[in-house]
Amino acid sequence: MSETDLLRAEFPLLAANPGLHYLDSAATAQIHRCALDAVVRHETGCRANVLRGSHRLAEAADRAYDAARTSVARFLNVASADEVVFCSGATAALNLVAHAFGATLRPGDRVLVSQAEHHSNFVPWQMLRERAGIALDLLPVTASGELDLAALPRLLSPRTRLVAVTQCSNVSGAWTDVAAVVEEAHKVGARVLLDGAQAVQHGPQDLRALGIDFYAFSGHKAFGPNGIGVLWARGDLLAGLPPFLGGGGMIDEVAIEASSWAEPPRRFEAGTPPIAQAVGLAAALEWMGGLDWPRLREREERLCADLIDGLLAVPGLRLLGPPASARRAPIVSFDIAGLHPHDVCQVLDHHGLALRGGHHCAQPLLAAFGVDACSRASLALYNDEADVAALVEGVAAAVRTLA
Ligand code: PLP
Repeated sequence: MSETDLLRAEFPLLAANPGLHYLDSAATAQIHRCALDAVVRHETGCRANVLRGSHRLAEAADRAYDAARTSVARFLNVASADEVVFCSGATAALNLVAHAFGATLRPGDRVLVSQAEHHSNFVPWQMLRERAGIALDLLPVTASGELDLAALPRLLSPRTRLVAVTQCSNVSGAWTDVAAVVEEAHKVGARVLLDGAQAVQHGPQDLRALGIDFYAFSGHKAFGPNGIGVLWARGDLLAGLPPFLGGGGMIDEVAIEASSWAEPPRRFEAGTPPIAQAVGLAAALEWMGGLDWPRLREREERLCADLIDGLLAVPGLRLLGPPASARRAPIVSFDIAGLHPHDVCQVLDHHGLALRGGHHCAQPLLAAFGVDACSRASLALYNDEADVAALVEGVAAAVRTLA
Protein backbone atom coordinates (compact mmCIF):
# COMPACT_ATOMS: atom_id res chain seq x y z
CA MET A 1 0.00 0.00 0.00
CA SER A 2 1.23 3.50 -0.82
CA GLU A 3 1.48 6.19 1.84
CA THR A 4 -1.61 7.88 0.35
CA ASP A 5 -3.57 4.60 0.38
CA LEU A 6 -2.75 4.27 4.06
CA LEU A 7 -3.82 7.85 4.71
CA ARG A 8 -7.03 7.39 2.72
CA ALA A 9 -7.90 4.38 4.85
CA GLU A 10 -8.03 6.70 7.85
CA PHE A 11 -10.91 8.67 6.31
CA PRO A 12 -14.13 6.64 6.57
CA LEU A 13 -15.84 8.24 3.58
CA LEU A 14 -12.84 7.74 1.32
CA ALA A 15 -12.32 4.19 2.58
CA ALA A 16 -15.94 3.42 1.73
CA ASN A 17 -15.66 4.94 -1.77
CA PRO A 18 -12.46 3.62 -3.35
CA GLY A 19 -13.41 4.84 -6.84
CA LEU A 20 -14.00 8.43 -5.73
CA HIS A 21 -11.57 11.20 -6.70
CA TYR A 22 -12.40 13.73 -4.01
CA LEU A 23 -11.07 17.07 -5.23
CA ASP A 24 -13.23 19.47 -3.21
CA SER A 25 -11.31 19.79 0.05
CA ALA A 26 -11.25 23.59 -0.21
CA ALA A 27 -15.03 23.46 0.27
CA THR A 28 -14.87 20.80 2.96
CA ALA A 29 -12.13 18.35 3.82
CA GLN A 30 -13.09 14.80 4.66
CA ILE A 31 -13.34 14.05 8.36
CA HIS A 32 -10.60 11.93 9.90
CA ARG A 33 -11.64 8.80 11.78
CA CYS A 34 -10.05 10.07 15.00
CA ALA A 35 -12.33 13.13 14.96
CA LEU A 36 -15.44 11.02 14.43
CA ASP A 37 -14.35 8.60 17.16
CA ALA A 38 -13.70 11.48 19.56
CA VAL A 39 -17.18 12.90 18.92
CA VAL A 40 -18.81 9.51 19.52
CA ARG A 41 -16.68 8.89 22.63
CA HIS A 42 -17.60 12.29 24.00
CA GLU A 43 -21.31 12.00 23.25
CA THR A 44 -21.57 8.52 24.70
CA GLY A 45 -19.16 9.01 27.60
CA CYS A 46 -19.53 12.51 28.96
CA ARG A 47 -22.31 14.38 27.20
CA ALA A 48 -23.33 17.21 29.49
CA ASN A 49 -23.42 20.96 29.26
CA VAL A 50 -20.30 22.91 30.15
CA LEU A 51 -19.82 25.61 32.78
CA ARG A 52 -23.07 24.82 34.48
CA GLY A 53 -22.96 21.57 36.39
CA SER A 54 -21.21 20.12 39.39
CA HIS A 55 -21.99 16.46 38.67
CA ARG A 56 -19.31 14.16 37.35
CA LEU A 57 -20.48 14.17 33.74
CA ALA A 58 -20.55 17.95 33.66
CA GLU A 59 -17.07 18.12 35.10
CA ALA A 60 -15.83 15.64 32.49
CA ALA A 61 -17.44 17.74 29.75
CA ASP A 62 -15.72 20.85 31.15
CA ARG A 63 -12.36 19.08 31.13
CA ALA A 64 -12.84 17.85 27.56
CA TYR A 65 -13.89 21.30 26.36
CA ASP A 66 -10.92 22.98 28.09
CA ALA A 67 -8.56 20.36 26.69
CA ALA A 68 -9.92 21.06 23.20
CA ARG A 69 -9.03 24.74 23.64
CA THR A 70 -5.52 23.76 24.65
CA SER A 71 -5.16 21.58 21.53
CA VAL A 72 -6.20 24.48 19.32
CA ALA A 73 -3.73 26.80 21.06
CA ARG A 74 -0.98 24.23 20.44
CA PHE A 75 -1.93 23.84 16.75
CA LEU A 76 -1.81 27.62 16.30
CA ASN A 77 1.26 28.12 18.54
CA VAL A 78 -0.33 30.95 20.49
CA ALA A 79 0.48 32.25 23.97
CA SER A 80 -2.59 31.03 25.82
CA ALA A 81 -5.64 28.80 25.41
CA ASP A 82 -7.68 31.74 26.80
CA GLU A 83 -7.08 33.50 23.48
CA VAL A 84 -9.02 30.77 21.65
CA VAL A 85 -12.73 31.45 21.15
CA PHE A 86 -14.89 28.60 19.85
CA CYS A 87 -17.66 29.49 17.44
CA SER A 88 -19.54 27.77 14.65
CA GLY A 89 -17.03 28.36 11.85
CA ALA A 90 -14.78 30.86 10.10
CA THR A 91 -17.80 32.90 8.99
CA ALA A 92 -19.01 33.24 12.58
CA ALA A 93 -15.48 34.12 13.73
CA LEU A 94 -15.12 36.84 11.11
CA ASN A 95 -18.55 38.26 11.94
CA LEU A 96 -17.61 38.21 15.61
CA VAL A 97 -14.61 40.44 14.85
CA ALA A 98 -16.72 42.71 12.66
CA HIS A 99 -19.13 43.20 15.58
CA ALA A 100 -16.84 43.18 18.64
CA PHE A 101 -13.83 44.99 17.14
CA GLY A 102 -16.21 46.90 14.88
CA ALA A 103 -17.91 48.34 17.98
CA THR A 104 -14.63 50.07 18.86
CA LEU A 105 -14.44 51.88 15.50
CA ARG A 106 -15.68 55.43 14.86
CA PRO A 107 -17.14 56.98 11.71
CA GLY A 108 -14.26 57.77 9.39
CA ASP A 109 -12.09 54.90 10.66
CA ARG A 110 -10.99 52.63 7.83
CA VAL A 111 -10.87 48.88 7.25
CA LEU A 112 -8.87 47.45 4.37
CA VAL A 113 -9.80 44.16 2.72
CA SER A 114 -8.47 42.60 -0.46
CA GLN A 115 -10.27 41.74 -3.65
CA ALA A 116 -9.29 38.10 -3.12
CA GLU A 117 -11.49 37.66 -0.05
CA HIS A 118 -14.12 35.01 0.41
CA HIS A 119 -17.51 36.71 0.96
CA SER A 120 -17.15 35.78 4.65
CA ASN A 121 -14.32 38.28 4.95
CA PHE A 122 -15.91 40.87 2.70
CA VAL A 123 -19.63 41.16 3.40
CA PRO A 124 -19.30 41.59 7.22
CA TRP A 125 -17.10 44.66 6.55
CA GLN A 126 -19.61 46.07 4.08
CA MET A 127 -22.27 45.55 6.76
CA LEU A 128 -20.06 47.31 9.31
CA ARG A 129 -19.67 50.21 6.87
CA GLU A 130 -23.48 50.56 6.82
CA ARG A 131 -23.74 50.16 10.60
CA ALA A 132 -20.85 52.29 11.79
CA GLY A 133 -19.97 54.70 9.00
CA ILE A 134 -16.47 53.35 8.51
CA ALA A 135 -14.69 53.53 5.16
CA LEU A 136 -13.79 50.32 3.36
CA ASP A 137 -10.63 50.24 1.25
CA LEU A 138 -9.85 47.59 -1.34
CA LEU A 139 -6.44 46.09 -1.96
CA PRO A 140 -6.41 45.01 -5.62
CA VAL A 141 -5.08 41.73 -6.97
CA THR A 142 -2.56 41.08 -9.71
CA ALA A 143 -3.49 39.40 -13.00
CA SER A 144 -2.85 36.00 -11.37
CA GLY A 145 -5.03 36.78 -8.35
CA GLU A 146 -2.29 37.46 -5.82
CA LEU A 147 -2.64 40.41 -3.44
CA ASP A 148 -1.02 43.44 -5.05
CA LEU A 149 1.17 44.29 -2.09
CA ALA A 150 2.89 47.11 -3.99
CA ALA A 151 -0.40 49.02 -3.62
CA LEU A 152 -0.60 48.45 0.13
CA PRO A 153 1.41 51.43 1.49
CA ARG A 154 -0.64 54.03 -0.41
CA LEU A 155 -3.93 52.44 0.72
CA LEU A 156 -3.02 52.57 4.40
CA SER A 157 -3.52 55.66 6.54
CA PRO A 158 -3.44 56.54 10.25
CA ARG A 159 -7.23 56.02 10.17
CA THR A 160 -6.81 52.38 9.03
CA ARG A 161 -7.76 50.33 12.07
CA LEU A 162 -7.80 46.88 10.52
CA VAL A 163 -6.34 45.03 7.56
CA ALA A 164 -8.41 41.87 6.97
CA VAL A 165 -6.98 39.51 4.38
CA THR A 166 -6.95 35.88 3.47
CA GLN A 167 -3.93 33.71 4.24
CA CYS A 168 -4.62 31.69 1.11
CA SER A 169 -7.20 32.32 -1.61
CA ASN A 170 -9.93 29.71 -1.96
CA VAL A 171 -9.95 30.37 -5.73
CA SER A 172 -6.43 31.16 -6.91
CA GLY A 173 -4.62 29.14 -4.25
CA ALA A 174 -2.16 32.04 -3.79
CA TRP A 175 -0.59 32.31 -0.35
CA THR A 176 -0.41 35.80 1.08
CA ASP A 177 2.95 37.26 2.08
CA VAL A 178 1.70 37.79 5.62
CA ALA A 179 4.95 39.26 6.94
CA ALA A 180 4.77 42.06 4.36
CA VAL A 181 1.13 42.81 5.24
CA VAL A 182 1.86 42.82 8.98
CA GLU A 183 4.88 45.09 8.56
CA GLU A 184 2.97 47.72 6.59
CA ALA A 185 -0.24 47.51 8.65
CA HIS A 186 1.52 47.77 12.00
CA LYS A 187 3.48 50.82 10.75
CA VAL A 188 0.21 52.79 10.74
CA GLY A 189 -1.10 51.13 13.92
CA ALA A 190 -3.66 48.93 12.13
CA ARG A 191 -4.49 45.45 13.40
CA VAL A 192 -4.18 42.47 11.07
CA LEU A 193 -6.88 39.83 10.74
CA LEU A 194 -5.93 36.72 8.80
CA ASP A 195 -8.61 34.45 7.36
CA GLY A 196 -6.95 31.06 7.79
CA ALA A 197 -9.85 28.98 6.42
CA GLN A 198 -7.83 27.57 3.50
CA ALA A 199 -4.52 27.36 5.33
CA VAL A 200 -5.28 25.00 8.19
CA GLN A 201 -5.65 21.81 6.12
CA HIS A 202 -2.07 22.29 4.93
CA GLY A 203 -0.51 22.05 8.37
CA PRO A 204 -0.23 23.53 11.85
CA GLN A 205 0.20 27.30 12.01
CA ASP A 206 2.65 29.49 13.87
CA LEU A 207 0.63 32.61 14.67
CA ARG A 208 3.32 33.96 16.99
CA ALA A 209 5.79 33.97 14.10
CA LEU A 210 3.21 35.54 11.77
CA GLY A 211 2.75 38.47 14.15
CA ILE A 212 -0.93 38.94 13.36
CA ASP A 213 -3.72 40.07 15.70
CA PHE A 214 -6.78 37.99 14.73
CA TYR A 215 -7.10 34.56 13.07
CA ALA A 216 -10.18 32.65 11.95
CA PHE A 217 -10.72 29.11 10.69
CA SER A 218 -13.32 26.32 10.42
CA GLY A 219 -13.02 22.80 11.78
CA HIS A 220 -14.51 21.13 8.71
CA LYS A 221 -11.61 22.32 6.56
CA ALA A 222 -9.09 20.86 9.02
CA PHE A 223 -10.36 17.25 8.84
CA GLY A 224 -12.64 17.89 11.83
CA PRO A 225 -16.41 18.11 12.32
CA ASN A 226 -18.83 20.67 10.97
CA GLY A 227 -20.34 23.36 13.17
CA ILE A 228 -17.11 24.32 14.91
CA GLY A 229 -14.68 27.11 14.21
CA VAL A 230 -12.14 29.22 15.96
CA LEU A 231 -11.41 32.86 16.46
CA TRP A 232 -8.01 33.57 17.91
CA ALA A 233 -7.05 37.07 19.04
CA ARG A 234 -4.20 38.47 21.12
CA GLY A 235 -5.12 38.32 24.80
CA ASP A 236 -4.79 42.07 25.45
CA LEU A 237 -6.88 42.85 22.38
CA LEU A 238 -9.60 40.35 23.25
CA ALA A 239 -9.78 41.67 26.84
CA GLY A 240 -10.69 45.14 25.55
CA LEU A 241 -13.51 44.05 23.23
CA PRO A 242 -17.22 44.06 24.07
CA PRO A 243 -19.26 40.90 23.55
CA PHE A 244 -21.14 40.26 20.31
CA LEU A 245 -23.87 37.84 21.36
CA GLY A 246 -25.53 38.01 24.77
CA GLY A 247 -26.83 35.07 26.76
CA GLY A 248 -25.80 32.32 29.13
CA GLY A 249 -22.15 31.69 29.84
CA MET A 250 -20.80 35.08 28.72
CA ILE A 251 -21.70 37.14 31.80
CA ASP A 252 -20.05 37.93 35.09
CA GLU A 253 -23.26 39.13 36.72
CA VAL A 254 -26.73 40.01 35.54
CA ALA A 255 -28.81 42.55 37.43
CA ILE A 256 -32.10 44.14 36.48
CA GLU A 257 -30.34 47.41 35.62
CA ALA A 258 -27.26 46.15 33.83
CA SER A 259 -24.96 43.19 33.31
CA SER A 260 -21.21 42.72 33.36
CA TRP A 261 -19.16 40.40 31.22
CA ALA A 262 -17.05 37.33 31.82
CA GLU A 263 -13.38 37.40 30.89
CA PRO A 264 -12.45 36.06 27.43
CA PRO A 265 -12.85 33.57 25.95
CA ARG A 266 -16.22 32.98 27.66
CA ARG A 267 -17.30 36.58 26.97
CA PHE A 268 -17.53 35.62 23.30
CA GLU A 269 -19.18 32.21 23.71
CA ALA A 270 -22.79 32.98 24.60
CA GLY A 271 -25.07 29.96 24.91
CA THR A 272 -24.23 26.28 24.79
CA PRO A 273 -21.11 25.93 22.63
CA PRO A 274 -20.50 23.13 20.11
CA ILE A 275 -18.86 20.93 22.74
CA ALA A 276 -18.53 17.56 21.02
CA GLN A 277 -17.49 19.34 17.82
CA ALA A 278 -14.72 21.12 19.72
CA VAL A 279 -13.56 17.76 21.07
CA GLY A 280 -13.62 16.28 17.56
CA LEU A 281 -11.72 19.22 16.15
CA ALA A 282 -9.07 18.87 18.85
CA ALA A 283 -8.60 15.20 17.89
CA ALA A 284 -8.12 16.16 14.23
CA LEU A 285 -5.64 18.90 15.09
CA GLU A 286 -3.66 16.61 17.41
CA TRP A 287 -3.52 14.04 14.59
CA MET A 288 -2.32 16.71 12.16
CA GLY A 289 0.30 17.82 14.67
CA GLY A 290 1.92 14.39 14.45
CA LEU A 291 2.34 14.32 10.65
CA ASP A 292 5.48 14.95 8.61
CA TRP A 293 4.36 18.27 7.08
CA PRO A 294 7.49 19.18 5.14
CA ARG A 295 7.09 15.89 3.24
CA LEU A 296 3.34 16.23 2.82
CA ARG A 297 3.68 19.80 1.55
CA GLU A 298 6.38 18.76 -0.89
CA ARG A 299 3.98 16.11 -2.24
CA GLU A 300 1.05 18.54 -2.42
CA GLU A 301 3.26 20.98 -4.34
CA ARG A 302 4.40 18.28 -6.76
CA LEU A 303 0.84 17.09 -7.40
CA CYS A 304 -0.33 20.67 -7.84
CA ALA A 305 2.42 21.33 -10.41
CA ASP A 306 1.53 18.12 -12.29
CA LEU A 307 -2.14 19.08 -12.26
CA ILE A 308 -1.47 22.56 -13.59
CA ASP A 309 0.83 21.15 -16.31
CA GLY A 310 -1.78 18.59 -17.35
CA LEU A 311 -4.66 21.06 -17.37
CA LEU A 312 -2.76 23.68 -19.37
CA ALA A 313 -2.44 21.15 -22.19
CA VAL A 314 -6.24 21.13 -22.56
CA PRO A 315 -7.25 23.40 -25.47
CA GLY A 316 -9.08 26.58 -24.39
CA LEU A 317 -8.29 26.14 -20.70
CA ARG A 318 -7.16 29.16 -18.69
CA LEU A 319 -5.64 28.88 -15.23
CA LEU A 320 -7.15 31.37 -12.75
CA GLY A 321 -4.27 31.70 -10.34
CA PRO A 322 -0.51 31.89 -10.13
CA PRO A 323 1.74 29.38 -11.93
CA ALA A 324 2.99 26.24 -10.23
CA SER A 325 6.30 27.96 -9.51
CA ALA A 326 4.60 30.55 -7.26
CA ARG A 327 3.95 30.13 -3.52
CA ARG A 328 0.56 28.52 -3.87
CA ALA A 329 -1.67 25.92 -2.26
CA PRO A 330 -3.02 22.99 -4.32
CA ILE A 331 -6.21 24.85 -5.19
CA VAL A 332 -6.48 25.00 -8.96
CA SER A 333 -9.26 27.03 -10.58
CA PHE A 334 -9.75 27.15 -14.30
CA ASP A 335 -12.01 28.44 -17.03
CA ILE A 336 -12.63 26.66 -20.31
CA ALA A 337 -13.63 28.95 -23.15
CA GLY A 338 -17.28 28.41 -24.13
CA LEU A 339 -18.10 25.87 -21.38
CA HIS A 340 -20.05 26.56 -18.21
CA PRO A 341 -18.33 25.24 -15.06
CA HIS A 342 -21.57 23.62 -13.87
CA ASP A 343 -21.67 21.52 -17.05
CA VAL A 344 -17.97 20.70 -16.75
CA CYS A 345 -18.35 19.60 -13.12
CA GLN A 346 -21.42 17.51 -13.95
CA VAL A 347 -19.52 15.62 -16.64
CA LEU A 348 -16.59 15.19 -14.25
CA ASP A 349 -18.95 13.81 -11.62
CA HIS A 350 -19.86 11.04 -14.09
CA HIS A 351 -16.16 10.16 -14.12
CA GLY A 352 -16.10 9.89 -10.30
CA LEU A 353 -14.46 13.29 -9.91
CA ALA A 354 -15.88 15.53 -7.16
CA LEU A 355 -15.03 19.17 -7.75
CA ARG A 356 -16.82 22.45 -7.64
CA GLY A 357 -18.05 24.90 -10.25
CA GLY A 358 -19.45 28.31 -9.41
CA HIS A 359 -18.38 31.63 -7.97
CA HIS A 360 -16.87 30.00 -4.86
CA CYS A 361 -18.21 32.84 -2.66
CA ALA A 362 -15.53 35.09 -4.11
CA GLN A 363 -17.36 37.20 -6.67
CA PRO A 364 -15.05 40.23 -6.38
CA LEU A 365 -12.07 38.01 -7.25
CA LEU A 366 -13.91 36.33 -10.10
CA ALA A 367 -14.76 39.80 -11.43
CA ALA A 368 -11.02 40.56 -11.44
CA PHE A 369 -10.49 37.40 -13.51
CA GLY A 370 -13.33 38.51 -15.82
CA VAL A 371 -15.53 35.46 -15.22
CA ASP A 372 -18.81 34.82 -13.38
CA ALA A 373 -17.94 31.25 -12.45
CA CYS A 374 -15.11 28.76 -12.76
CA SER A 375 -14.24 25.15 -11.99
CA ARG A 376 -12.03 24.42 -9.00
CA ALA A 377 -10.07 21.35 -8.02
CA SER A 378 -8.53 21.32 -4.56
CA LEU A 379 -6.11 18.70 -3.31
CA ALA A 380 -5.46 17.59 0.23
CA LEU A 381 -3.09 15.13 1.86
CA TYR A 382 -5.19 12.11 0.79
CA ASN A 383 -4.96 12.90 -2.93
CA ASP A 384 -2.42 11.25 -5.18
CA GLU A 385 -1.13 10.89 -8.75
CA ALA A 386 -4.19 8.81 -9.73
CA ASP A 387 -6.51 11.69 -8.77
CA VAL A 388 -4.47 14.13 -10.82
CA ALA A 389 -4.35 11.83 -13.86
CA ALA A 390 -8.10 11.14 -13.62
CA LEU A 391 -8.88 14.84 -13.47
CA VAL A 392 -6.70 15.77 -16.44
CA GLU A 393 -8.28 12.94 -18.44
CA GLY A 394 -11.76 13.88 -17.22
CA VAL A 395 -11.38 17.53 -18.19
CA ALA A 396 -10.22 16.54 -21.68
CA ALA A 397 -13.25 14.20 -21.92
CA ALA A 398 -15.57 16.99 -20.73
CA VAL A 399 -14.23 19.28 -23.45
CA ARG A 400 -14.86 16.54 -26.07
CA THR A 401 -18.37 15.90 -24.72
CA LEU A 402 -19.49 19.50 -24.33
CA ALA A 403 -17.71 21.30 -27.18
N1 PLP B 1 -12.77 32.06 4.16
C1 PLP B 1 -12.32 31.31 3.14
C2 PLP B 1 -11.04 31.68 2.45
C3 PLP B 1 -13.04 30.19 2.73
O1 PLP B 1 -12.60 29.45 1.72
C4 PLP B 1 -14.24 29.88 3.42
C5 PLP B 1 -15.06 28.71 2.99
O2 PLP B 1 -14.93 28.20 1.92
C6 PLP B 1 -14.64 30.70 4.48
C7 PLP B 1 -13.89 31.78 4.82
C8 PLP B 1 -15.91 30.41 5.23
O3 PLP B 1 -15.83 29.21 5.92
P1 PLP B 1 -17.14 28.58 6.59
O4 PLP B 1 -18.17 28.49 5.50
O5 PLP B 1 -16.68 27.27 7.09
O6 PLP B 1 -17.55 29.51 7.69
